[in-house]
Amino acid sequence: MSFKIIIIGGSIAGLTLANILERYGIEYVLLEKYRCIAPQLGASLGILPYGSQVLDQLGVNEVVQSMCERMESMHYYDSDGVKLGGHDTFGEMLLELTGYQFNFLDRRELVQALYDNLKDKSKVHISKELLSINQLETGITVTTKDGTIFRGDILVGADGVHSQTRKEVWRIADSEVLDYGTQQMAKSITCSYKCMFGISDRPENAPDGRGYKTYHKNRSYLCQAGRGGKLYFFTFSKNPKVTTDEDIRRYTSEDEKDLLDTQRDDVLFPGLTFGDLHRKRRTAVLVPLQEYVLEKCFYKRVILIGDSFHKMNPLTGQGGNSAIEDAALLGDLLKEALDNDPRPTNENIHAQFNHFQEERKPRARILVDGAHALQRLEALENPFLEFLQKNVIAKGEIDQLAAVMAATHCPGHILKYLPKPSREGVVARDVEVVARPRERSSIATAFWIILVLLVAGVSFALGQSVSMGTATVLHDSLLDYTLVTTMGVNALWTIESYRPSNTNNPSAIPYILASTAFDWHLITPIYFAIYIYLSKSRTFYYPNPRAIDLRAAEHLPTGLLVTYFVPALLLLKNMAPIAVPKWIFSLVQLGLPVLISLRQRMSTREPPSANFAEALYGTSDMPYLSWFYNLGILSTSTLHVVIASRVFPRIPGTTAVKEMVLSSEGVQLASLTAVNLIWFVFTIWDLRRTNVLQSPLSFAVPSVLLGSICFGPAATLLGLWKWREGALERSRARKQDF
Ligand SMILES: Cc1cc2nc3c(=O)[nH]c(=O)nc-3n(C[C@H](O)[C@H](O)[C@H](O)COP(=O)(O)OP(=O)(O)OC[C@H]3O[C@@H](n4cnc5c(N)ncnc54)[C@H](O)[C@@H]3O)c2cc1C
Repeated sequence: MSFKIIIIGGSIAGLTLANILERYGIEYVLLEKYRCIAPQLGASLGILPYGSQVLDQLGVNEVVQSMCERMESMHYYDSDGVKLGGHDTFGEMLLELTGYQFNFLDRRELVQALYDNLKDKSKVHISKELLSINQLETGITVTTKDGTIFRGDILVGADGVHSQTRKEVWRIADSEVLDYGTQQMAKSITCSYKCMFGISDRPENAPDGRGYKTYHKNRSYLCQAGRGGKLYFFTFSKNPKVTTDEDIRRYTSEDEKDLLDTQRDDVLFPGLTFGDLHRKRRTAVLVPLQEYVLEKCFYKRVILIGDSFHKMNPLTGQGGNSAIEDAALLGDLLKEALDNDPRPTNENIHAQFNHFQEERKPRARILVDGAHALQRLEALENPFLEFLQKNVIAKGEIDQLAAVMAATHCPGHILKYLPKPSREGVVARDVEVVARPRERSSIATAFWIILVLLVAGVSFALGQSVSMGTATVLHDSLLDYTLVTTMGVNALWTIESYRPSNTNNPSAIPYILASTAFDWHLITPIYFAIYIYLSKSRTFYYPNPRAIDLRAAEHLPTGLLVTYFVPALLLLKNMAPIAVPKWIFSLVQLGLPVLISLRQRMSTREPPSANFAEALYGTSDMPYLSWFYNLGILSTSTLHVVIASRVFPRIPGTTAVKEMVLSSEGVQLASLTAVNLIWFVFTIWDLRRTNVLQSPLSFAVPSVLLGSICFGPAATLLGLWKWREGALERSRARKQDF
């Protein structure tokens, strides 16, 4: 007998998996509790590009698209109905970015299309509600409510948020092992919002393709135009307290009435209140919004996918798409296992299930946390979030949104053993590029942070505890060289402040001011530590855009010249720090970020939002960056050689060396150099980790260390950063053989 899979649940996850198994020629049976496939439950569903691409591979996307209303634009309103902002090119942006759009349809239409797409419908059994799982050592036996028994080799629970499969697995696991962790997992199912969702008649002033979001205190609304004069709506209302697992309430018609009474007068957008919308409803249901990603999604021969494994606030429209992605990954893993062995052993099955769990958990966690955070913002949960949502996020430009959408789309799993999706956009999927985006482990991140902070700590302690003298013989040279080294650091801070990956670290100015007050050797390690922490995420190197705003990039070379021409001349003529206090040089460094920022604001060039594809994913900034780096490398390496040639003849006097090492200037320069060297090694290691760099570490690390000796840390830093721009660009191009 061939290996057989039992699927529980005939909705998005279950039927997507059924389609995949049919295409892969794997035997299965699907049990659905309802009397029909695709009952009308009043729900809508938004299909995102990463869901559409799998449907495309299954040959069902065109049919689904024909039933959809596209989300072309999204407008944002405050509680008075005043428009805060909007993205009129939302649909266009997604299409250009990914090749697909964000499409809305009735949830049951998608389920029906998936069912219709099956060639052999005899494997789908309706009115078969799973009651119990009886055996799962060498195979599976399940009993349905009507007493029918089904046998198979593995069981896939795709039976939604109240999964009976999950209940059964937890019951069996609890009876067999002590530490499966069902209680902790049950507690991890939390609920802080409820949602009334439904379909109503669309008001006349709501055009096709338009979505609306409205922000009220502790609640928010999402409306989306649907086909045939429909308006899909969702109200998200904060509960008085967070509840978990069994304490999560199911709602009654009384609760619906209470919610309506409280929110009836809420304005959604000009000319429409929630009361109006509710009056025009075709369907409306009030449900709790559970949120979770289970720590474990399998036990022995049973695995959970879709909502039974993870559930997110539907505000970002990810749940159904994640269910599709789960099915795609599991389908591929099952095919792999069966190709290797038509009757895989328990160990092989566990290995594949474990692979599924470890790959899906972090991605689902990001989506759950992201939707939760967005919900808190949109429901204006506190004054800070209210300020942020109304003044920053709602007014954000389309290019910023594009970077967020790319980060969600690119890691999406596509089926390995079917022809690849028919469409592609300007951003390649993760699997198509050379780079291997991966989150850095917390341990590695902590290690590098501790290392750079250790340098700051040691130099601070030395400065405090040893009564350091001031260098006399080499005093000027030490200060000269410190200035040269900080030029490199400042150039990096300025460039990185325009990098879209660094939106959380957007300006060099506070670091320069802090360096002026506390010295560069203490602030530089702190900057590097923050950078290491912020670059931990999976998306940092890819698909986050590499390119920087052209309006800033084009002024970088002149900015560098204007800022450093006079100081460099003074250094060359060996008259720099004699007359000028050190802090003035530190302040001069402000010139670079301030100039670039002013020129960017005054620029007559189009902003990145005008052509986000070129601005974010093009290479128009590269020539300017090249000039900038070349100028920086030339000037700092020249100064390195000139200063070194001044210092070396004086070295034979041992007092000079001793004084240099024990002086406060010497310690500061030494720690600045040390932290730069650590930074080089970290950068190389991190780029190797993500496959942006392909050469072995044993070649790359000695190269930068040698570069530091020959050309100085500043020139090496700029050289490394120049090389990094090119490497990042090469690593994000589509692979030839894909
Ligand atoms: C208000 C709201 C709006 C949403 N909007 C979106 C959106 O825009 N985009 C998006 O991607 N997602 C959205 N979602 C989430 C999405 O609906 C779910 O994530 C998705 O339906 C999960 O699919 P699933 O197949 O895992 O589970 P479900 O769709 O819940 O299906 C479970 C299936 O299992 C069957 N079943 C249950 N118990 C048994 C049993 N004992 N035996 C046999 N069969 C059983 C059920 O009848 C059902 O058919 C929304 C959710 C809500 C609540």
